[in-house]
Amino acid sequence: MRVVIIGGSFGGLTAAYELRKRLDKEHKITLISDNDKFVFIPSLPWVSLGWKKPEDVVFDLRRPLVSKGIEFRHATAEKIEPEKNIVVTNAGDVSYDYLLIATGSYLEFEAIPGLGPQGHTQSVCTLEHAKQAYEAWQRFLKDPGEIVIGAAQGASCFGPAYEQVFMVDTYLRRINKRHEAPITFITSEPYLGHFGIAGLGTSRRSMEDEFADRDIKAITNAVIDEITTDVIKLKSGEELKFKYAMIIPPFRGVDAVMSTKDLGNPRGFIPVNEHYRHVKFENIYAVGVAVAMMPPEHTPVPIGVPKTGHMTEQMAKIAASNIAAEIKKNEKKSAELQVICFLDMGNEAVLMSASPVLPPRNKHRLKKHVVFHWVKVIFERYYLWKMRRGITWLP
Ligand SMILES: Cc1cc2nc3c(=O)[nH]c(=O)nc-3n(C[C@H](O)[C@H](O)[C@H](O)COP(=O)(O)OP(=O)(O)OC[C@H]3O[C@@H](n4cnc5c(N)ncnc54)[C@H](O)[C@@H]3O)c2cc1C
Repeated sequence: MRVVIIGGSFGGLTAAYELRKRLDKEHKITLISDNDKFVFIPSLPWVSLGWKKPEDVVFDLRRPLVSKGIEFRHATAEKIEPEKNIVVTNAGDVSYDYLLIATGSYLEFEAIPGLGPQGHTQSVCTLEHAKQAYEAWQRFLKDPGEIVIGAAQGASCFGPAYEQVFMVDTYLRRINKRHEAPITFITSEPYLGHFGIAGLGTSRRSMEDEFADRDIKAITNAVIDEITTDVIKLKSGEELKFKYAMIIPPFRGVDAVMSTKDLGNPRGFIPVNEHYRHVKFENIYAVGVAVAMMPPEHTPVPIGVPKTGHMTEQMAKIAASNIAAEIKKNEKKSAELQVICFLDMGNEAVLMSASPVLPPRNKHRLKKHVVFHWVKVIFERYYLWKMRRGITWLP
């Protein structure tokens, strides 16, 4: 059998290693990625402030994959032809018996005029963006002023916006420049601490207290109309001046999914069943940010459910084990997703865990401590070490 994976990040790489563990060498595994590097995305907010070097948070995919007997193709998937079992790439067609899609999302900056690194705001969503944000931050430090940080309508990732606003606050306090930089946080969430998952325990109160404590103004239910060189215009009519802005953009599925009939929903996210198998195409699986997840509640401004690295890995392991089970004619499995993540603030961090991810939950935890900041720092090193070696064990 031939198993093809698209995407070389948390979802794709975990699935590739997991499949290799479960399938004999007679079964060929190929990973296609348009990026030949694995990037530890959770560290990008640190890169944007100069707390981490870009080269410390990446590794080349080729060596670990090839050493495990997994073929690597550095190519962009352009579309999938499910009837023919073919992935069309810019470097030729790749045929498959089973396909696993882990392509994450497309960052839709063009949905809002002036948004993003090609417009007037920064992003920390890719390594290139984080590097560019670092340059902008250096310029800002020489000539400080108003700061706006947040997440746009249609975003489905809020944690990094919170991390960035707290870290920027911590940074400026350390150099005694916080008084020169009023900070506003704008978010499409209905309230602070919603996070796209209808909150987590006391997250609303905790975040409101944290913002008050740090003197950060917050605007919720925000819809951005337009961004000019130094002003963010909201639909409410409010105008926010800025010298430095970092806004998480709307997310949608990647073009390869959007351009394949019946593969994704109208936003390009892939509907799957409890086995992470496509609801229509029986030999296609999808994991991670690429997957469609129903929001837990209606919100005045549309937002998506975030899928963390930890959630993505759980999905990848379940999907890989189900592909192997199908090939070996074993029973398939499914499991409720859990979440554990650390929201860093530069000096401290908040541990957030929930099981299951969406309410009602059996258990959850939200706790702030300086130790969690160091846990996050150490976890990055450990994670990069284990992924270079093909270890998919989850803490
Ligand atoms: C700034 C930021 C901070 C975060 N912090 C945390 C955190 O602290 N903790 C946490 O748990 N999660 C965090 N997350 C979420 C975490 O990064 C995601 O859950 C994770 O990256 C999802 O992995 P994925 O494999 O689904 O997709 P992605 O990481 O988006 O990877 C997609 C992969 O597919 C490839 N690809 C895309 N399109 C194509 C194509 N057409 N052809 C070939 N290859 C393609 C890309 O190159 C990439 O390799 C953060 C996210 C961001 C943006």
